[in-house]
Amino acid sequence: AKSAGRNNFQFFDAKMNEAAVERLGIEHALRLALGRDEFRLHFQPIINLRTGKVSCVEALIRWQHPERGLLAPGMFIGVAEETGLIQPIGDWVIWAACRQLAAFREAGLTGVKMAINISAIQMRNSDLSVLARGVIEAYSLPPGDLVFEITESVAMEHPDETVRVLDLLRDMGVSLALDDFGTGYSSLSYLRMFALDKLKLDRSFVEEIGQDVDGQVICDATIGLAHNLGLTLVAEGVETEAQLDYLRARGCDLVQGYLFSKPLPAEQVMDFIRQRNA
Ligand code: C2E
Ligand code: CA
Ligand code: CA
Ligand code: CA
Repeated sequence: AKSAGRNNFQFFDAKMNEAAVERLGIEHALRLALGRDEFRLHFQPIINLRTGKVSCVEALIRWQHPERGLLAPGMFIGVAEETGLIQPIGDWVIWAACRQLAAFREAGLTGVKMAINISAIQMRNSDLSVLARGVIEAYSLPPGDLVFEITESVAMEHPDETVRVLDLLRDMGVSLALDDFGTGYSSLSYLRMFALDKLKLDRSFVEEIGQDVDGQVICDATIGLAHNLGLTLVAEGVETEAQLDYLRARGCDLVQGYLFSKPLPAEQVMDFIRQRNA
């Protein structure tokens, strides 16, 4: 039994080692990718249900890997967060997204906001507000055209620091959205602590529309909660007309999902906005 235990341990250790080596590999590759400018942003339209127009786009990172092709964030954001590389990558995202927003405005596409995902580690650093101010000035952007999306779990881990950074951003005029709402350890009291503008109802609940009564109840309750708190409700992952009809009937404000468009490269999203907002 003793030797079996030891074997188990060795096996476990080897597995751990494999994971660590793999992680080191990704970390190294991510560093190179930053230097080689291999990250890209795609943009997914967010539609105003009342006007039918694009009111915002969400910037979503991709990695144009030289051998493996275009990689989704699920493949590398986790490692970037664990290794702290999310800091320089996140800074790159903010600069690139704002440069694109300036290009939209240059092309006459005004009134479209840019939503940017902000990770926990970035929130823990008040440099975020300094960076935001610098970028807004550099591109002469209306601060309200920037929306920073933070997830619940991020915000809950360090609520005091989060509140401080969010207040700085809010004072600057940047809009704030709580992402993936309903999936984290929600404490409703945080909704009042954070100076939010938007709630994003997670795709997992939208999926349940027409399928599962409990999921629908959560959709209804979240829409009601957002509106009673004076917040805009964004539904994520809308894929079907049935989901759209349901959300529209309940007064949902903004929708995002494959029913309208997948995330697109800049040129294509500009065409999409031109057609839709004409
Ligand atoms: P998220 O912020 O919840 O972004 C929405 C994700 O749902 C995107 O996946 C989008 O492509 C996908 N999606 C949108 N509509 C639909 C739909 O109708 N059906 C389905 N099945 N999926 C839909 P993506 O681009 O793979 O991003 C995954 C996650 O990676 C994001 O989730 C976000 O948490 C993270 N992420 C992406 N870009 C960044 C970034 O620049 N910085 C940070 N920190 N995280 C990012
Ligand atoms: Ca998001
Ligand atoms: Ca989300
Ligand atoms: Ca999500």
